[in-house]
Amino acid sequence: MFSELQPRPADPILGLSVKFAADSNPNKIDLGAGIYKDEHGKTPVLACVKAAEQFRVDNEESKAYLGSAGSAAFNTAMNTLMLGDHKVIAENRIRTLSTPGGTGALRIAGEFIKTCKPGATIWVSNPTWANHQGVFTAAGLQVKSYPYYDYENKCLDFDAMIEALKQVPADEAVLLHACCHNPSGMDLSREQWQQVAELAKEIGFLPVIDMAYQGFGEGLEEDAYGLRLMADTLDELIICSSCSKNFGLYRERIGAVSVIGKSAEQADIIGSIVPAVVRVNYSMPPAHGAAIVETVLNSDELTQQWYGELQEMRDRINGMRQLLVNKLAENGVTQDFSFITRQNGMFSFLGINPEQVQRLQDEHSIYIVGSSRISVAGISPDNVDYLAKSIASVL
Ligand code: PLP
Repeated sequence: MFSELQPRPADPILGLSVKFAADSNPNKIDLGAGIYKDEHGKTPVLACVKAAEQFRVDNEESKAYLGSAGSAAFNTAMNTLMLGDHKVIAENRIRTLSTPGGTGALRIAGEFIKTCKPGATIWVSNPTWANHQGVFTAAGLQVKSYPYYDYENKCLDFDAMIEALKQVPADEAVLLHACCHNPSGMDLSREQWQQVAELAKEIGFLPVIDMAYQGFGEGLEEDAYGLRLMADTLDELIICSSCSKNFGLYRERIGAVSVIGKSAEQADIIGSIVPAVVRVNYSMPPAHGAAIVETVLNSDELTQQWYGELQEMRDRINGMRQLLVNKLAENGVTQDFSFITRQNGMFSFLGINPEQVQRLQDEHSIYIVGSSRISVAGISPDNVDYLAKSIASVL
């Protein structure tokens, strides 16, 4: 059975982390993985999460199965977090299931779309999060891409995007990043969301919104703007969310898949199918992360604490964006890097070439993925001078 197997190359981002760990240079900087780090380079457990975990240890009464939808309290809390008091909740048109992270949500969304329409196509932005292609292919979908980022001018290529989306046939799916686009950091403006929503309504394609960074861009409400607009405008929508980043629950694996139908009756049918998709996959989601999130969101005190901690993470990342741009200028870089301050969330493309990326690694122990995507959260006041000098030296 195994004799014909050939080794596969390591995942480029995970492979970078291994190289970083093995590097003995005390000045080394990891700008690879999309993990929040504080100014000391640590990814701490949020204090609100610690408190919720303690509450769970003290109060948990059973570890019996929860079922394929996971925790109802978590699912309800996630609906409110994503949608506020949106009409789709009052109209009972949404069915949400807890999933193993945002990746689990995307996989179940893909399998559900395949159930609706075998062989369906999903369109993803070019570029997009590296795992989208693999997850949707593994779920049995065809994956195509639409233009998104203008590498030359370091901005959104919205005209090309909308032209491409005009060609998407009805009943195909289109993946959109709710905020903090990974890897470019370029998000749609409110007017652009409006245009995409109107186009989806006109053509009848199905938006699948990937919201892995709610609260990391401009704020919890602001980051959900596009998603809520889509829910205002369309009868059908899928949302895949993740608590990995905003609750710092990376390894607990918790997120949610939400499917919105055009009526409560249709939502009931959807609500019978999605759990069946889960049942033959991983059967049921893990419960620990969901219990933490529902404990935080159902306590006013812990929610306030979470808002504060989330804001601290968001402000730190935005602060580092500005600091890097300032330090590059201080180190004599004349090239305009101000686009970094106009982008959102954890990532930006530096816009340097693969040879320069490699030199940063070989000569300066600075680890960046080959596309020149940097994880801004890896920058700190302590390492930004060294980083800016090193970038200046390879430019
Ligand atoms: N979607 C995007 C755009 C991401 O960047 C990530 C993680 O980096 C995910 C989904 C999945 O996150 P997780 O499965 O860790 O919750």
